[in-house]
Amino acid sequence: MSITRQKAIESAIGYHESDTATVKESHVEEYFGCNVFGIDRMRQRLPKTVFRKLQKTIENGEPLDESVADAVAQAMSQWAMERGATHYAHVFYPLTGLTAEKHDSFYDPDYHGHLIANFSGKELIQGEPDASSFPSGGIRATFEARGYTAWDVTSPAYLIEGKNGLTLCIPTAFCSWTGDALDMKVPLLRSMQALNKQALRVLKCFGHENPGLITASAGPEQEYFLIDRSFYYARPDLLSAGRTLFGAHPPKGQELDDQYFGAIPERVLAFMQEVDVELYKLGVPVKTRHNEVAPGQYEIAPVFENANLATDHQYLIMQTLQRIAPKYNLACLLHEKPFDGINGSGKHVNWSLGSGKLGNLLKPGDTPQENMQFLVFCAAVIRAVNLHPQMLRASVAHAGNDHRLGANEAPPAIISIFLGAELTNVFEQIAFGSKATSKKKDVLNVGVDTLPKLPKDATDRNRTSPFAFTGNRFEFRAVGSSQTIAKPLLILNTIVAESLDYVATELEKAPKDPKKFNATVQKLLQKIIRENGRIIFNGDNYTKEWLSEASQRGLAVATSTPEALKQMETPETYDIFGKYGVLSERELSSRFEIYREKYIKDLMIEARLCVSMARTMIFAAGVKYQHILAQTAAELNALGKNTCTTTLDEIDEILANLQKAMLNLEEVIKMPSNLSLEQQCGYIVATIIPVMNELRTYADALEHVCADELWPLPTYQEMLFIR
Ligand code: ADP
Ligand code: MG
Repeated sequence: MSITRQKAIESAIGYHESDTATVKESHVEEYFGCNVFGIDRMRQRLPKTVFRKLQKTIENGEPLDESVADAVAQAMSQWAMERGATHYAHVFYPLTGLTAEKHDSFYDPDYHGHLIANFSGKELIQGEPDASSFPSGGIRATFEARGYTAWDVTSPAYLIEGKNGLTLCIPTAFCSWTGDALDMKVPLLRSMQALNKQALRVLKCFGHENPGLITASAGPEQEYFLIDRSFYYARPDLLSAGRTLFGAHPPKGQELDDQYFGAIPERVLAFMQEVDVELYKLGVPVKTRHNEVAPGQYEIAPVFENANLATDHQYLIMQTLQRIAPKYNLACLLHEKPFDGINGSGKHVNWSLGSGKLGNLLKPGDTPQENMQFLVFCAAVIRAVNLHPQMLRASVAHAGNDHRLGANEAPPAIISIFLGAELTNVFEQIAFGSKATSKKKDVLNVGVDTLPKLPKDATDRNRTSPFAFTGNRFEFRAVGSSQTIAKPLLILNTIVAESLDYVATELEKAPKDPKKFNATVQKLLQKIIRENGRIIFNGDNYTKEWLSEASQRGLAVATSTPEALKQMETPETYDIFGKYGVLSERELSSRFEIYREKYIKDLMIEARLCVSMARTMIFAAGVKYQHILAQTAAELNALGKNTCTTTLDEIDEILANLQKAMLNLEEVIKMPSNLSLEQQCGYIVATIIPVMNELRTYADALEHVCADELWPLPTYQEMLFIR
């Protein structure tokens, strides 16, 4: 066995429980949120007037009164320094999809040879990181503006414990000096505002004068893989691309279904417990942890929170997983498809909207009136998804997710909605009359009839649908495991806001008389379902039949990121983002540029890795084996023995093909110059990816026949099963 592999295996097996720090996951209630400067701490430490002003912004969405900044900065930094913090950081969420932070010390020299602690309101409210190396899609180049970070009052500051000290982290929005959003948070917050505004209009029609701030909620379920870190470092592809670019399928994969919800291996459980402890301290309400379907695959899910906080917490979950894993000599893989032929990882994003006062607006109610309102909100979502499926599709488009969507284990690259039999039936009855009594065509009258009891927790969950109603929320399952949930959330909020705007405009015209109002609602629901029903599909989304049926229904498929981006980039998309103030034309077009650039970079890294690994590791191993076989044949021949060269012939052929594909890839990655970003994307899909795939076929074939001791890369079997 190659020395690297041997060492990796030894280290994986040699892992001892005692190597890791001991953490006790008990009495969670005592330390939950202990590292957060949350609402309780603010109440304790801030002057009453200041606290009330802040509370209004946090809980009611009122604009921030900046005069409070100094007082908050003082209380916040005092608390942090009491805990031992020395530095603070504005954390922001640039368009790389990752988080960024710049640390500054609380201390300044006093020019008498001492340091004094100093943290002003100005420093709390605004920061100026050197932003020149974050993608801006031309915005900064054009306007020569620098970026600045602005305090997001609605997401609490928290302490990150490093090995040698603590840092106060302040969630911020990231803009250019011209006010253009350069991050994910700004448009997410804007989309939540738009959603609130339109939902309030609809609710007013239903007689709610003061329903409180309507917020979008999100509960993201994060899937991930854990492998021993020694294997991770022995695989250049995992290290640099996050996924294996080569690797023959192991004799045992996931066919036994013996992993899902199975007993969690000891080392993994210890890891999960420490992750939970760290997240509890940060006030992240993690709830669920279990084995997933594939070997080495797991899931972590928090309880849902408002979409902005849930997004920040989701980043913290991903960061914590990756930060804690090395302590257990593990590597956490967040890529959507680390292993070919093995289930990929997604991030189901559960979404709903509501207010503290009214509760969840997507929850079927107990009275006819409540149910009518529920159906209206539900129909608005259906309409939104049907009118803008390409926007949802593009919200989850990136290189990693291309391997997962449509791969027979994840939703297809076509957006449709699963509603469940009961709810579909209700909508159909409203729209077309009852099927059972088709002669009479009894139409279900909203607001009058009590609806058939709707399932509060749908049991017939269809796991194959990309967008499913699950009793009191929608679950968007096409989201990739590595991506921020900000993008899908802000798009969902925006298209639903547009739909609620449409609904409100219709209902505002309705007569106030309850009977007449109900009739208007009835008609509106009928119209929405008749016009948008094509998006509802309760069947198996993994089948070929659905592909053809979807195309008959006129639903678009986008199997690659470039295709998805192209489908989204329409005047309509620009209109809707502009109309609801979520992204200006300039902001949106810069984003398309950034997403395409990212795709190109990701793929080019993979392609170059393919060439170098094929050349220096895989081809090299094959030639060694070829040499041994040839030598053996020659020696046998010299002894006058019969020589069988079947394996040698096989190796010869594979190596010849491998070399050809390798040289070909080397050639095609020299992309023709002067291509636009869109053309480069097209070139990659049409010309580079097929050669990468071909090269992999030969490399994997070689792995099947090559002597194990010569194989340079940890195998799928080792990575997935040695724990
Ligand atoms: P499953 O794996 O069966 O889909 P989980 O319990 O793992 O369910 O995750 C469900 C997620 O949905 C959790 O994060 C949960 O808090 C979240 N959730 C529940 N109700 C709502 C809601 N009304 N809005 C948004 N998310 C919700
Ligand atoms: Mg789920």
